Amino acid sequence: MKYAILGDIHANLEALTVVLAKAEEENVDKYVCIGDIVGYNSNPHECLELLMQLPLVGAVRGNHDEYAVRELDLAGFNAQAAAAIQWTRQQLNGKECEWLRALPYRLNVVDNGCRFQIVHGTLDSPEHWGYIFDRYNAAASMQYQGLQLCFCGHTHCPVCFDRHLNGSIQDGGYESVKLMTNHKYLFNVGSVGQPRDGDWRAALAIYDTKAATVTLHRLEYDVAACQEKILAAGLPQRLADRLAYGV
Ligand code: ZN
Repeated sequence: MKYAILGDIHANLEALTVVLAKAEEENVDKYVCIGDIVGYNSNPHECLELLMQLPLVGAVRGNHDEYAVRELDLAGFNAQAAAAIQWTRQQLNGKECEWLRALPYRLNVVDNGCRFQIVHGTLDSPEHWGYIFDRYNAAASMQYQGLQLCFCGHTHCPVCFDRHLNGSIQDGGYESVKLMTNHKYLFNVGSVGQPRDGDWRAALAIYDTKAATVTLHRLEYDVAACQEKILAAGLPQRLADRLAYGV
């Protein structure tokens, strides 16, 4: 079984289209979504519509999803992010809001004998939207990780945290990781629609259960088209600019 793990899509239709084409080319069977489907970019409807058509075995809520469908105070967001959430609130229809509101904070995916966890931010308190930047943050989260494998997002930076039998955790970027028995893994799958690791290309992680591997693909997409739409929608210039740099 092959699963495509989609993180932080952020309403970027150009990036999502390329990612889904690659997943199909790689003969992915099913899809998983790590949240933040909306926010920042200008195609929330189109991205939600595409997602709803996929064979999704699990999806969790991101902070942008939550704030887009609830009238919560936006003081915790920077000015551009808050402007995009306000814009997104005016775009979503009733069905889309309902679908986003139903997403859980964390989920144990059980599918055809495969089991793994998914969460947007942290496993220890996902509703507080903390970030896993380093091994110390990862250790706190992994205490709550009941399964060998967990996928997360939120920082928009792909990283693999690999906990050995003796409890020590190694971390680093990854292209392909062979999963070892008795190790526990927490993968940040990076971002489809707004990468921030200095690489502007869309991220797509594929979990291959037969090969016991997690592989990260980086894919070029039409950034200029996405930028034009952001500006045409009246969203902040900075949200268009940052896509070209992956920041
Ligand atoms: Zn995000």
